[in-house]
Amino acid sequence: MIPPPWQARLRQQAQHRQALGRDRTIHPAAGVDVCSNDYLGLRRDPRLAEAAAQAALRHGAGAGAARLLRGTCELHEALEAALAQWKGQEACLLFNTGYQANATLIPALAGRGDAVFSDALNHASLVDGCRMARAGGAHVGVFRHLDLDDLEAQMKTWRSASPAGALALVATDAVFSMDGDAAALPALLDLCGRHEALLLVDEAHATGLLGADGAGLAQLQGVHGRVPLIMGTLGKALGAFGAFVCCDRLLRDRLLNSARGFIFSTALPPPVLGAALEGIRLARAEPWRRERALGLAQRLRQALGRPDQASAIVPVPVGADAEAVRLAEALQGLGYDVRAVRPPTVPEGSARLRITTGAHLADEELDGLLEALRQVRSGH
Ligand SMILES: *Cc1c(COP(=O)(O)O)cnc(C)c1O
Repeated sequence: MIPPPWQARLRQQAQHRQALGRDRTIHPAAGVDVCSNDYLGLRRDPRLAEAAAQAALRHGAGAGAARLLRGTCELHEALEAALAQWKGQEACLLFNTGYQANATLIPALAGRGDAVFSDALNHASLVDGCRMARAGGAHVGVFRHLDLDDLEAQMKTWRSASPAGALALVATDAVFSMDGDAAALPALLDLCGRHEALLLVDEAHATGLLGADGAGLAQLQGVHGRVPLIMGTLGKALGAFGAFVCCDRLLRDRLLNSARGFIFSTALPPPVLGAALEGIRLARAEPWRRERALGLAQRLRQALGRPDQASAIVPVPVGADAEAVRLAEALQGLGYDVRAVRPPTVPEGSARLRITTGAHLADEELDGLLEALRQVRSGH
């Protein structure tokens, strides 16, 4: 039994969410997928399923322990080697999820007196990493979205009063998950270089999708292998599950010795590793997948009058929460799985539809989606 004061609080919180129109509910997948992050259409590829099955048969269904205990099998090492090679980095460390990676690697690096500077629209996992670092005594500075002048001004202000030996870390999404716009990595690297700050870039929505070899935004922007800390996920374009950080050996050693999300969590299971290895192989061997996903997104943006971007994320601004929900539900009724994104995931007053494209989408499906959008937006 839940004690009565807890019941009262939980009821009151539920009523509050409902009154705001912000109650979150889970809707299973249905209709044409134009909202997942399965950009390359690999999630359901039988070759990934086969690789997962083979890995399970050979190495077991579960890892059995954390990596530092008995949880490491040859597939963890093979996957880390494949990711480091693809990202042009010396080393790689797997994490169980991107959330765990971001939330725990930041406090593992930035401690008392240090500073973490974070883009205002960074993913919640980076935000939580900053909060953990702050709890550990670090200064956290949130700079205006993509505004490097604001970032530099904040760094200078902090530095002028920082204790001796204090270090700075800058964290940014590569491609921002709710807007689909991208950070300027060469300029960020330059700025971080001048201020001796460590740059962490989250390539969750860029890995597999951008750059000549699909390695990500750093590759697209000509700084492949030069970002000291590149984080990415295996559960989006690569069709599997899990996350990784690519960096040099010194950083990897620090993370495996101190990132609590790495140390205190059972290792990724072999089937997931098998699928991820096959996902990377296919992402690189079948460039038509990323070309198709990006081409469809470009078509969609053009038709909707949205600015061009290097991503497969197309936000359709709405504004009011209730209207975004109405539009999403109407589109779902027409067979298109479009989801509304509301605060606090996005800033107040900026509720939107978040449409994504993937290699699995047919041309007719995109045409149908555009027609459905026209219908539901005018039928008001
Ligand atoms: C999805 C996402 C994450 C979290 O990754 P998971 O593996 O799903 O936990 C982190 N950062 C960004 C930018 C993301 O979009």
